[in-house]
Amino acid sequence: MDDFARGGGEGAVGGPQRSGPQVSAGTALIRGLMKRCPHCGIGPIYVRWAHDARVCSHCGLVYEPTEGDTWAFTIIGDRIPVAAGIVIVYFELGSRLGPLALFAAMTVVIALLVWTTPNRWGLGVALLYLQRTWWPDPLDKLPK
Ligand SMILES: [Zn+2]
Repeated sequence: MDDFARGGGEGAVGGPQRSGPQVSAGTALIRGLMKRCPHCGIGPIYVRWAHDARVCSHCGLVYEPTEGDTWAFTIIGDRIPVAAGIVIVYFELGSRLGPLALFAAMTVVIALLVWTTPNRWGLGVALLYLQRTWWPDPLDKLPK
């Protein structure tokens, strides 16, 4: 398990055994939210704040095999919550709060959304990982 060969060399027959995810969906999603590899839970998805690590330093999982694979998950998990948060605060609280309190509420919401951006992106990586384990592609090598 520690000597996982990255990226291939295995034949089409007798390749890695994959009969569904080895990790439960909940565990993978929590790991993604915590910005950890959804497969092993050890390697970081991001270096520093939100610089994409691309490959797990522990198990070798390639987080996004093809650029843009997490696009749909990013839209669902990131852009829609950001827009919903701003709309809810602005339209729901806007009529009740004065301009200064509304500005303060918007600032807090935007700061929270920015602060948790890598967590939501990590969730997108976890969702992609689950998709890859549930509907495996023979060309896509996942670590054992
Ligand atoms: Zn890993």
